[in-house]
Amino acid sequence: METPNPKKVAMFSIHSDPLAPLGSQECGGQNIYVKYLAEELEKLGWYTDTFTRWDNPRKKQVTNFSKHSRVIRLKGGPVSSIPKKDLFPVLPEIFENFQKFINYENPYALFHGHYWDGGWMALKAAQKFRKPFVENFHSIGIVRHETKKKFFNDSDEADYFSKRINLENEIMKNCSCIISLAASEKENLEKLYGCAKEKIKVIKGGVNLKHWPLIEKEKARNTIGVDQKSFIVLFVGRLEWRKGIGTLITAAGLLKKEIDNLKIMVVGGKIFGPNKNAADCKEFKRLQIKSEEEGVGSIVTFCGNVDHGRLPVYYRSADVFVIPSYYEPFGLVALEGMASLIPVIASRVDGLAATIENGITGLLFEARNSLSLKNKIMEIYRSKDLANTLAKNAYTEIAKNYSWSHIAQQIADIYEPLTEGQKIL
Ligand code: UDP
Repeated sequence: METPNPKKVAMFSIHSDPLAPLGSQECGGQNIYVKYLAEELEKLGWYTDTFTRWDNPRKKQVTNFSKHSRVIRLKGGPVSSIPKKDLFPVLPEIFENFQKFINYENPYALFHGHYWDGGWMALKAAQKFRKPFVENFHSIGIVRHETKKKFFNDSDEADYFSKRINLENEIMKNCSCIISLAASEKENLEKLYGCAKEKIKVIKGGVNLKHWPLIEKEKARNTIGVDQKSFIVLFVGRLEWRKGIGTLITAAGLLKKEIDNLKIMVVGGKIFGPNKNAADCKEFKRLQIKSEEEGVGSIVTFCGNVDHGRLPVYYRSADVFVIPSYYEPFGLVALEGMASLIPVIASRVDGLAATIENGITGLLFEARNSLSLKNKIMEIYRSKDLANTLAKNAYTEIAKNYSWSHIAQQIADIYEPLTEGQKIL
């Protein structure tokens, strides 16, 4: 049945095409977030067009991913990949192409920006067409920059961060509402940016249990060709400094004496084949060298990025899932591990600490502390009962509190009062 009187939203997810393959530099949680949110909003009568930068000539300009949800690619700079930090100069061209696409007449009741690049577009569109806009930062400049400086002592990107943080301030001042994925982001926006707390709503990310079938472990392992006897520790995510994969590799060095059949699987990164990504390969090389140095070169397997739809066999093969991030604004992979009914261990940071209740729905360890991570993995290794209890509690929590339909409803509740009484073109 058609939903009467749909309202239209333009989402801007400039570096994150919701239909792009995941697990490489620019493609991860934001892509999934935007896609699932749009699909669920559609069921509530909110039809979305998601605008993204055209980064590949093989992509069509417009693709429907459900009946009333489209992704629209706009030219800005070369039609090839550009690192996020280099997007500033091409944003005006993308905005001009956005206006051309809509024929300079705005059909949208509201604009919704994602990240600072999408926020820039939403801000411009809102000013131009005098409509409200909301913003999801997904990650915030000050925290990201401070974390990076702490671990790398590298000031190369100071210019980029200064521009980004200024823009974030402008977005914050002008938007009607900021949607934060975790309470820690809300606190940081208040404390570090002086953002008014009334402007921020905390709405967590979600996971769809239907996408995470509970495939039998033996079958899952046969599918990906790993032996039944290994104790498998799984990581899934982009190959990026802040994901803390090095902590896991050092922990593997400590564990190998205690677990004979240890295997670490690292999923993520375009590191094989003709579409290799240079930044992923650089990080891969660094991690490979580290594995050799820690004496775990034959224990750690880098699987490269895996199609999102194929991930359930990886999760279901694992004995434990580890997320060792230094900074993780939310961390959808935590929800995916929990939805896969396997025990999850995560660093006690930001979104991860908000999702996982230590000792109840998973285990938390101190970020960057390999010994602390090793001890948590040993707890799971030694006690099947603990592993099962954590996994079951986590699954129950996911089923209760993390549905995308609930998230979309909360976001629609933000849209409604902002757009009430508007004439929709
Ligand atoms: N992902 C994937 N294939 C891979 C690696 C990652 O589909 O090879 C997906 C993963 O399942 C998750 C997303 O990418 O849905 C990563 O989101 P998360 O919020 O954990 O991290 P972010 O990318 O936002 O830093």
